[in-house]
Amino acid sequence: MAHGNADKRVLSQWLPKALLLLSLLPLPACHHAPPGGHVPAARLLYLEEIEKDMNAFTPDPRYPDDPFVLVTVREAMAGARERNGGIGACLVKEETGEVLEKSHNRQYEPYFRSSLHAEMDLLDRFEERMRLTRSRDPRDPTYLDPRAAAGIVLYTSVEPCPMCLTRIINAGIKKVYYAAPDINGGMARRFESLPPFWKGMAEGMVLEPARCSPALTDIAARLFRPMHVPGAKRL
Ligand SMILES: [Zn+2]
Repeated sequence: MAHGNADKRVLSQWLPKALLLLSLLPLPACHHAPPGGHVPAARLLYLEEIEKDMNAFTPDPRYPDDPFVLVTVREAMAGARERNGGIGACLVKEETGEVLEKSHNRQYEPYFRSSLHAEMDLLDRFEERMRLTRSRDPRDPTYLDPRAAAGIVLYTSVEPCPMCLTRIINAGIKKVYYAAPDINGGMARRFESLPPFWKGMAEGMVLEPARCSPALTDIAARLFRPMHVPGAKRL
């Protein structure tokens, strides 16, 4: 009997801890997705369903942003398949419609890099390629500011977060369209809360939902949805 009581005591001491550990194991599929490992079968099926819809989609001429948002959701799919998160982005030359650069979230794999949200990685790639420098000549317009982002539009599959929005502003991009809203983390809807300096830098900026087919917004939202923290507001 005494033995049984001791067992119960051990159990009562460890059970809450074991339950707590168990509750932590399937980490919410959010920005804190566990690194490495395999992609669960249910998740793969879910992605395959979205991929089918994505591949069946053809841009609708009534929505001018469809071709570019399609690029972002394809990138988002690549990010989701890598367990990096389902967000994609691209830079487009407005005049010609040329896609200059594209990217997706690379924050978690192959190792954690907190700076590699889709939009930040996109701008890193673009700036690395452009390697713009400031002129030392005060008569040169780039004497103070090497940014050369005029006429470049940034498309992203999800409303930019605070970190990405300030980076986009700093990069000099003046036009941003996003496919799906992010009620919990999006900064476009909280633009007025930016510090005055950043708001000043963003003067004249277009920061709006993409003019794309509702079906594409839905695909972008579904790719992003698994990243939501359980209990938080859904899209
Ligand atoms: Zn971000």
